[in-house]
Amino acid sequence: MATDPAVVQHDSRSAAVVGAGPAGLYALAALLKGDAFDSVDVFEAAPAPYGLVRYGVAPDHPKTRNISRVLARGFEHAHVRFLGNVTVGRDVAVDDLRAAYDAVVVATGMLGDRRLGVPGEDLDGSLGASELVAWYTGHPEAPAIELPDELRAAAVIGAGNVALDVARILTKDPATLRRTSMPRHVVDALTASTLTDVHIVARRGPAQAKFTSPELHEIGNLDDIDLVVDPADTVLDADDQQAVADDRRSRVITDLVHEWSEREPRGAPRRIRLHFWSRPVRFTGPGHVRGIDLEPTRDDGTGRASSSLPVEMVVRAIGYHGQAIPGVPFDGATGTVPAHDGRVLDDDGSVIPGLYVTGWLRRGPTGVIATNRGDANEVAASVLADLETLPAHAPERRPVDDLLAERDVRVVSWDDWLRLEAHEKAEGEAVGADPIVVHDLKTVLEVIERRDG
Ligand SMILES: Cc1cc2nc3c(=O)[nH]c(=O)nc-3n(C[C@H](O)[C@H](O)[C@H](O)COP(=O)(O)OP(=O)(O)OC[C@H]3O[C@@H](n4cnc5c(N)ncnc54)[C@H](O)[C@@H]3O)c2cc1C
Repeated sequence: MATDPAVVQHDSRSAAVVGAGPAGLYALAALLKGDAFDSVDVFEAAPAPYGLVRYGVAPDHPKTRNISRVLARGFEHAHVRFLGNVTVGRDVAVDDLRAAYDAVVVATGMLGDRRLGVPGEDLDGSLGASELVAWYTGHPEAPAIELPDELRAAAVIGAGNVALDVARILTKDPATLRRTSMPRHVVDALTASTLTDVHIVARRGPAQAKFTSPELHEIGNLDDIDLVVDPADTVLDADDQQAVADDRRSRVITDLVHEWSEREPRGAPRRIRLHFWSRPVRFTGPGHVRGIDLEPTRDDGTGRASSSLPVEMVVRAIGYHGQAIPGVPFDGATGTVPAHDGRVLDDDGSVIPGLYVTGWLRRGPTGVIATNRGDANEVAASVLADLETLPAHAPERRPVDDLLAERDVRVVSWDDWLRLEAHEKAEGEAVGADPIVVHDLKTVLEVIERRDG
């Protein structure tokens, strides 16, 4: 068979994965199974791997966080490297990677929060869930959050598991949080918090909420917390009845919320109040959030009127939103990268050879961690199918290591990470806690540069 002159047969194949979250690391595992690569480099902006498994999944869910053990397996291969603390698009360009590797798989997830677009959203005390979550999980780039001195009540906008995580972390007995991986300054702040009430505000009814039942059950079983639901919120309309008929999860959630609406409050010191069929129309100040105005989203015949909740903090948990990486096409409306079977599409709809996308950046912020495995497998299959037809590298291709060294980037290697991990474990064991996340980059670098273990 004649060989296409445009296609150069390579002796040695290399791939780069950008983002060491679940999607990137599942993609790594799938690429390795193909046994087609002589080297795979994984670039990660944070100084530690695992993406939202480390900096998203709640610290009081250690079993879920332990998925990191599975995700770590790719790094057991001698020809796989971790290049942490490297932000692609800033420290090294996507084009540099495309020039240096046969295939580049972008898996940078979603970084920020969607906005509500209501007046007062930028008042002090109003923040996105991604900021609060980054703070309580110890992300080095998290904003320094100070809970308001007079904090009595907070509102969490959203009807998904992130809203439940936030409500739970804010109200949970801090003594239990002290046994988790949560950075100590965060546990201290939550211990000092005077918060008594968290209002979860959901646009639609329980039947159409995105909560999953184990997480909802969990907040129903928390010690020292009363759950409060208005019975009128549990009345099903036609859409709800359809949702309940079609979907078991919806049925379970509706039943649970209904059960809570009939519960007598136990006089617990803290309360989580669920408000369904409500949407915030304004955050009120002045200067700092003092309240939110809510409007009903349905007329349920109960004469429900607009209302105001006095709150000192509002957390938007209405979904994460992707951020463009320079050099990668991006759809600002969806916050995702346009692709076909994971092959990134240019503005004119043509495939960009050798550039792939997977995970949240490909399909949006939906699904559980394991959803990223199927997604990554599909994308890796595209990579492997394309491999022989990918364009040859430019002859002057420069090793990315040189670029990073020239730019003085302190790359965190896998061994560095293992040193940090051992340190976090020891810090936790010393106080009877899970490994405690080191949250500031300066300390991270000090720990990994200490050679005495
Ligand atoms: C608060 C929260 C809690 C969650 N809890 C659960 C749970 O309990 N159970 C569950 O199943 N799912 C949970 N999820 C969902 C789960 O975390 C996601 O499905 C999954 O993390 C998405 O994987 P990803 O790899 O696409 O993105 P991410 O996990 O976000 O990974 C992306 C990685 O790319 C890196 N990156 C970003 N930009 C760059 C760049 N320019 N250069 C280099 N690296 C970059 C990031 O630092 C990050 O490490 C939760 C999500 C959130 C937000």
